[in-house]
Amino acid sequence: MQKRENDWMVLLPLSLERKPEGLKLVSKTLSQTRTHSINIVPKAYAEQHLSVSNKEYVKASEKTLERIRRESLAKSKSLSTNSLLELKELRMIKPLDSPLRHDFGRRRFFNGVAKSPHSGIDLSGKVGDKIKAPLAGRVIILGDLFYNGNMMLIDHGEGLISAYSHLDKIYKSGGTWVEQGDFIGEVGKSGRVTGPHLHWSVYLKGIAVNPELFLEDATL
Ligand SMILES: [Zn+2]
Repeated sequence: MQKRENDWMVLLPLSLERKPEGLKLVSKTLSQTRTHSINIVPKAYAEQHLSVSNKEYVKASEKTLERIRRESLAKSKSLSTNSLLELKELRMIKPLDSPLRHDFGRRRFFNGVAKSPHSGIDLSGKVGDKIKAPLAGRVIILGDLFYNGNMMLIDHGEGLISAYSHLDKIYKSGGTWVEQGDFIGEVGKSGRVTGPHLHWSVYLKGIAVNPELFLEDATL
């Protein structure tokens, strides 16, 4: 996007569950306060039907549910990190050199049971393919989660966090600073997967947004 003098940009995260409506945005400068109206229109996301052999992934037992609840709490806490890191750059590079599937928001059914919409995009790869940091930031390790498998995050600052799931290997430890393009880990098939791939998500203030918005030649 072309930036001109006095242009400003607002990143506004909208959850996939958000209903169409009018939204008011108030901007304040020293001399004036202005209200901007934003119209949210519905977007029809595609459906995907998958079958998995491990029934726990479709209807989890009480013990697994307990684990899922615990992990989901820890995950949302980390994803809502609003650190004091200054976000200097928004433009990301692809973490894996493979074609984009444009599958953010896809409504998924596992063995016919409706599950939460796809909160990221999937990048094809083989176990062991190296993943690059799309943007500089600080590493957060979440560990081995039931759905996401081995998962790590990068905190880019000001509420922008990117997430990497189903990893085979993680190269960095928590708290490490990584530069754009640094290798951070390897593609795997841990967690709920039908094959090896990288599930890449981007969160803004704790809400999943389409990672493609941050790529150089995004076509949405
Ligand atoms: Zn995915």
